[in-house]
Amino acid sequence: MPPKTFHTRAQRLAAARRAIFNRAYDKTTRAISEDINRMILGGLSRKEGNAKIAERIEKKYPEVSAARIVRNETHSIESLMREVNFLESDPNAMMLYVWQVVRDKRLTPICKRIADRAKSGVTMDRLKEIIAEEANARTYRAANPYVPHIGCRSVMRRKYQ
Ligand SMILES: [Zn+2]
Repeated sequence: MPPKTFHTRAQRLAAARRAIFNRAYDKTTRAISEDINRMILGGLSRKEGNAKIAERIEKKYPEVSAARIVRNETHSIESLMREVNFLESDPNAMMLYVWQVVRDKRLTPICKRIADRAKSGVTMDRLKEIIAEEANARTYRAANPYVPHIGCRSVMRRKYQ
């Protein structure tokens, strides 16, 4: 199912921010999940590595698998933060984006297909639709629109004009 489309800048920003803060983790309460999201966001904005962020979460919440959460979630949260940042200068989401992949032997067929389909540049909404169509259906979640498969390293990047 393609992601829902939003029409105003405020709706888009609110949706992107909600997607970051509403993430819930197994075996934790909502309040703890929200605190973990804040800690990941804080660590990312301080440019800390995953190990450092996981260590801080583990110290505060020894009962959660911090390393696993950080490993799985930072890429997704980073992608959503990129979306928020892009929306600042592209309020109506009319600019063109491409799917930036690392062309090495770990490149997955999924990401190669997304990159090929978006290579002339597509809008943010269209890119999300393409990702949803190409994603691994077993692991894809609409809450993580920029994560087509587990262990993904690709990111949305503005197309150079
Ligand atoms: Zn990928």
